[in-house]
Amino acid sequence: MEFDYIIVGAGSAGCVLANRFSENPSNRVLLLEAGGKDWHPFIHMPAGLAKLASMSKINWGYETEPQQELNQRRLFWPRGKVLGGSSSINAMCYCRGHRKDYDSWAQGGAKGWGFDQVLPWFIKLEDYENGASDYHGTGGLLSVQNLRHTNLLSGKFIEAAVQAGFNRTDDFNGPHQRGFGYYQVTQKNGRRCSSADAYLRPALSRSNLEVRTHSLAEKVLIESDRATGLIYRRKGKQQTVRGGHVILAGGAINSPQLLLLSGIGPADHLRKHTINVHLDLPGVGRNLQDHLDICTLRASKEPITYDRLNEITVGLRYLFGRKGPGASNVAEAGGFIVSRHAQDDRPDIQMHFVPALLDDHGRNILPGYGMTIHACALRPESRGQLTLKSADPGEAPAIQPNYLSKEYDRKMMLECATLARKIYSQETFKPYIGEEVFPGAKIQSEEEIMAFIRQKAESIYHPIGTCKMGTDEMAVVDPQLNVHGLQSLSVVDASIMPELISGNTNAPVMMIAEKFAAGA
Ligand SMILES: Cc1cc2nc3c(=O)[nH]c(=O)nc-3n(C[C@H](O)[C@H](O)[C@H](O)COP(=O)(O)OP(=O)(O)OC[C@H]3O[C@@H](n4cnc5c(N)ncnc54)[C@H](O)[C@@H]3O)c2cc1C
Repeated sequence: MEFDYIIVGAGSAGCVLANRFSENPSNRVLLLEAGGKDWHPFIHMPAGLAKLASMSKINWGYETEPQQELNQRRLFWPRGKVLGGSSSINAMCYCRGHRKDYDSWAQGGAKGWGFDQVLPWFIKLEDYENGASDYHGTGGLLSVQNLRHTNLLSGKFIEAAVQAGFNRTDDFNGPHQRGFGYYQVTQKNGRRCSSADAYLRPALSRSNLEVRTHSLAEKVLIESDRATGLIYRRKGKQQTVRGGHVILAGGAINSPQLLLLSGIGPADHLRKHTINVHLDLPGVGRNLQDHLDICTLRASKEPITYDRLNEITVGLRYLFGRKGPGASNVAEAGGFIVSRHAQDDRPDIQMHFVPALLDDHGRNILPGYGMTIHACALRPESRGQLTLKSADPGEAPAIQPNYLSKEYDRKMMLECATLARKIYSQETFKPYIGEEVFPGAKIQSEEEIMAFIRQKAESIYHPIGTCKMGTDEMAVVDPQLNVHGLQSLSVVDASIMPELISGNTNAPVMMIAEKFAAGA
């Protein structure tokens, strides 16, 4: 046995695991990452994120299957393929979700994952700029700070939301989540603080930790009922590595794909691809959930948005003092709304405000200046699945989220678009905003708005659930995150969440990894 722990994927979860397991000098730890090093300056300068979606070298750049309820469109699903994983390309908004999200996990069979049990791990990972409290920690490895630069319009957005009847909050992660305000961000002194920055870099000098980049895990080796190692591909060559415990942290798409390629999953599906069945585990790849998002765009009367920034001036200002728009995560402000459709006191809609015209993930540059309200329903009912297209590890799996397949989800998306317009229509916004770019003033009836949603809704990048934790027959891992029916094989990433949480998913994934590594 060469290693005690082999970790697949140096993303939000994988970097936490690599750090925690290598803290003990007697553990030999291997971290495999399919992508390369995170050297690109746009990863580290927060506003660089606008460029990251289209950089194919650091992005898996997945596409879904055609979506029946979205005019047969294939939706773009960026995922980080680089040290730090998706935490190296995400928007840095720091959110935990709502207390009831975790209590609902626990009630569904994820024993030990109720809010009171997970809160200490959130607090442990944090180094929070505004100080420690019952809800925040200091001295942790993940730096959580206030934005160093915000646009005037982000402040106006918050004011308009208050004028529209919503409350103001300074902390979405305090005792109450609802309300509007600025996001706290995973940044350190104006620089992105990815999971690689926070957890991997401080551990790199340890002689018991080895990181192999450009290494794609292709198959978990199983002997009788035990994982004993991995086959992976590096520089075109297949290699084998043996280990005491194999931990998959490849994210909600790649971890279930790797299980399927290894003969762990629904037996009939595996046989269809002539894969030897090691374990018939029907839940692998099922229970796929994501936050679908609709953007409402308005023109800005003044050229004060981030649409046409002078890159040299912004770059220089950032370089000398980490100040100015370069330090912005672009999605600066937001809010959590308890809508009229809410089933309890939990917010069921989240908004992100971007002081720029954002279309097609920033890949379609629109003329002029403007702003965007993103709105998504937080707990959709639609469930999808992830299946293999072939037994070739180099081929992307079929991603079928089945967006808007439930009436409730369609109703919620209509509410999202309506509430965005309500905020734009407030007096305080009027001096700043011009005509509506999307959906456009002519689009008024419910049918017209729904047609706009079908044409324009996109993922806001929170796929989860494909190796869900629990004890029922569709659960893939148990509450200790070990794969049911096998020894020495665990999954620790966004795929184990049984249900979406009410917010962004990076911090919850890091919490999951901290809790697992402590054996708690
Ligand atoms: C564009 C974007 C914006 C987002 N914005 C936010 C935000 O503002 N706030 C927030 O909280 N969340 C945000 N998210 C979501 C959040 O970043 C993810 O939920 C989280 O990073 C997922 O963590 P993970 O560990 O499950 O997977 P990842 O972080 O995706 O890590 C998986 C890693 O495994 C590697 N890997 C995969 N398969 C293999 C293999 N076979 N062999 C070797 N390596 C492999 C990948 O290359 C990757 O590095 C965003 C996501 C994206 C894509």
